[in-house]
Amino acid sequence: MHRNLINGEWVEGARVSRNINPSDTRDLVGEYAQADAAQARQAIAAARAAFAGWSVTTPQQRFDLLDAAGSEILARKAELGDLLAREEGKTLPEAIGEVARAGNIFKFFAGEALRVGGEVIGSVRPGVGVEVTREPLGVVGLITPWNFPIAIPAWKLAPALAFGNCVVMKPADLVPGSAWALADILHRAGLPKGVFNLVMGRGSEVGAVLLEDQGVDAISFTGSVATGQRVAAACAARMAKFQLEMGGKNPFVVLDDADLAVAVNCTVQSGFFSTGQRCTASSRVIVTEGIHDRFVAAVAEKMKTLKVDDARKAGTDIGPVVDAAQLAQDLDYIAIGRQEGATLAAGGEAIERNADGAPGFYLRPALFTETTAQMRINREEIFGPVISVIRAKNYDEALALANDTPFGLSSGIATTSLKHASHFKRHAQAGMVMVNLPTAGVDYHVPFGGRKGSSYGPREQGRYAAEFYTTVKTSYTQP
Ligand code: NAD
Repeated sequence: MHRNLINGEWVEGARVSRNINPSDTRDLVGEYAQADAAQARQAIAAARAAFAGWSVTTPQQRFDLLDAAGSEILARKAELGDLLAREEGKTLPEAIGEVARAGNIFKFFAGEALRVGGEVIGSVRPGVGVEVTREPLGVVGLITPWNFPIAIPAWKLAPALAFGNCVVMKPADLVPGSAWALADILHRAGLPKGVFNLVMGRGSEVGAVLLEDQGVDAISFTGSVATGQRVAAACAARMAKFQLEMGGKNPFVVLDDADLAVAVNCTVQSGFFSTGQRCTASSRVIVTEGIHDRFVAAVAEKMKTLKVDDARKAGTDIGPVVDAAQLAQDLDYIAIGRQEGATLAAGGEAIERNADGAPGFYLRPALFTETTAQMRINREEIFGPVISVIRAKNYDEALALANDTPFGLSSGIATTSLKHASHFKRHAQAGMVMVNLPTAGVDYHVPFGGRKGSSYGPREQGRYAAEFYTTVKTSYTQP
């Protein structure tokens, strides 16, 4: 039994959840305690009590702890990657890559703890000095989704701790294993009691307490738009600071002058890898007339080579969908696409058993062609391995289609034209723009986030994380 970490103690929960392997539903990854509302409140109280001490630790103390955690994560990346692939279903190389990312994030923010600076600004009044400094917020509640079980907890936790905040973290119900492993590493690294608390449990119960309890000063949330809106309403009602990272419907534009192999690789990578379960996945591929037919044929050909199988088996390209509900949602959208008149050019079938006969939530990646911008499959986030191709007459129309969405997370283009690449970088309405690269797959030391319905509040990651996890103080001194 994996227990919750509250005030430095491992405690039993009110209930138990069973973590199931989506590649083989007979395989129980482990049993995890589920906290209830009372335990969530205890965790918040513990974090509050720990804040006075933790917020005045030296940067060296915080560096040492975060650096040690980063080193352990990196040293154990194969083992933790295996756990991640087993509980979430991305392939082993992808999972190991995600764990390495988490380790590097801890190392990066260890350094950031040392680099917290300020400014001295001349006053407009004679003899007065002005200083601008940064201070921690207090207790931060972290609510994370299932699709990056260790990287997202890491990119919230590491900056929160680096800048002197205390934390209560509620991971997604489907993937408690990676979050628990992270808690175990931080606990053993020697974090003082109460500085970091793990409360696994239901969103509607444990998550709701984090949103409503006055003891939580700020919430960093990643997940769906619907939950994000709830987070926003609850935080605004009590003036808590909040940051939201939500859905995407990311476009990838392919122009006539694109290198075909680059365009196909980017499309397949960001559309289908990680089973399409990435907020930065490209799901709308906008292709100009001159290359359209060659491009579609090449993608369909490439799709024939993709091996859908157990996430942990060597040679698997696409692991299973995360659970039965997400698989049902993917299949619903595939049916909706057909009803709307799109052509299902390849894939889209559920596979009940993998090559070894194990029952799992497998889905052959789906390619829709002859789709229009107004179809629901081009407006709503499916969050599965489903790509829709939209024809465009020329670059201008392709850009307009790319921006015709309520979301704005990532946006990409395949082109050999410097003119179009430069124009697209400036005019794509997205937080991240990729030229001749997949829309998914980003560095760990630079800002991450979007615009419009995809994000709200300051960016995550890199130096920009300080904007959320600290508050600025302006001090005036008359000697
Ligand atoms: P979700 O919104 O269902 O859940 C996210 C988290 O919120 C979970 O921990 C859940 O338990 C919790 N939660 C649910 N109801 C709650 C409530 N009433 N109060 C407080 N917390 C509550 O999302 P999901 O299905 O886990 O994740 C998939 C979504 O996440 C997709 O929409 C995807 O695009 C998005 N996502 C976005 C980014 C990004 O950075 N933009 C990254 C990864 C995933």
